[in-house]
Amino acid sequence: MAAPRYIGRFAPSPTGPLHAGSLVAAMASYLDAKAHSGQWLVRIEDIDESRTAAGAAEWILQSLIRFGMHWDGEVVWQSNRKNLYQAAFDQLRAYTYSCGCTRREIADSRIGIAADGAAVYPGTCRAGLAPGRLARSFRLRVPEQDQAGEYIQFEDAWIGPVAQHLSTAVGDFVLKRADGYWAYQLAVVVDDAAQCVSHVVRGADLLDSTPRQIYLQRLLQLPMPKYSHVPVVVNRQGEKLSKQTGAQQLDLQRPLECLLDTAHFLGLAVARPVSIKQFWQKATIAWGNLHGGG
Ligand code: GLU
Repeated sequence: MAAPRYIGRFAPSPTGPLHAGSLVAAMASYLDAKAHSGQWLVRIEDIDESRTAAGAAEWILQSLIRFGMHWDGEVVWQSNRKNLYQAAFDQLRAYTYSCGCTRREIADSRIGIAADGAAVYPGTCRAGLAPGRLARSFRLRVPEQDQAGEYIQFEDAWIGPVAQHLSTAVGDFVLKRADGYWAYQLAVVVDDAAQCVSHVVRGADLLDSTPRQIYLQRLLQLPMPKYSHVPVVVNRQGEKLSKQTGAQQLDLQRPLECLLDTAHFLGLAVARPVSIKQFWQKATIAWGNLHGGG
């Protein structure tokens, strides 16, 4: 039987230019795809239009080209795919309910804080909106603790075994936000499946979201890709680099230096490449030696 095809992807949110942190996710996903002779797709995750910065997506794509990272096929833009998210949401109707809670009310319930910093939803609107409350968002009901499907386990290629109790770690989560935008969790699951992504390689800041995504895949009867969550670059305060934490823009005048720094961060020994092309040849071999491929 032929080995399944490898399809990987890089899925940046265009909230600002590519920075050292996003280059790590781009490089790791690119190298894993190349080491497996697979395809590497690029998807612009511009679903949260309130955070999209004008021109950022184009800048990210230009930067990838400058770094010699060439994607397969057409770039996909989430903002063009809202009908797909709506269709998936319609399929999930039996598991969803409208929620009238504000962020403050959820925080005040003090039921707990999820690993991603958001408050665990206490289930206030599960049995219906209280009289006089207006629907703000739509949530997906997760099973009660220890009920079937509530405990999600998977093997992460970088981290090893990962497990999460959806009910106590996250609670019922948002699929459609109060501002009308589709939630990242829903969009990413729909798109990874629609694009036949077999391997998701991304930053460990998203590790905590993965059980929610696996849960959605199960409800929607979609295949589960293999996951690998690579370390994230943090600043001196231990915060993930992002536009909000003041990440420095990459110096596109010195692409080879940026690539070597990033490879070093990922633990790859790439000796003295004379060109970007040679960097990728050497880095792909180094990645394959450490993480497999073939
Ligand atoms: N768009 C997300 C980000 O830029 C990444 C999503 C993913 O790789 O699943 O952080």
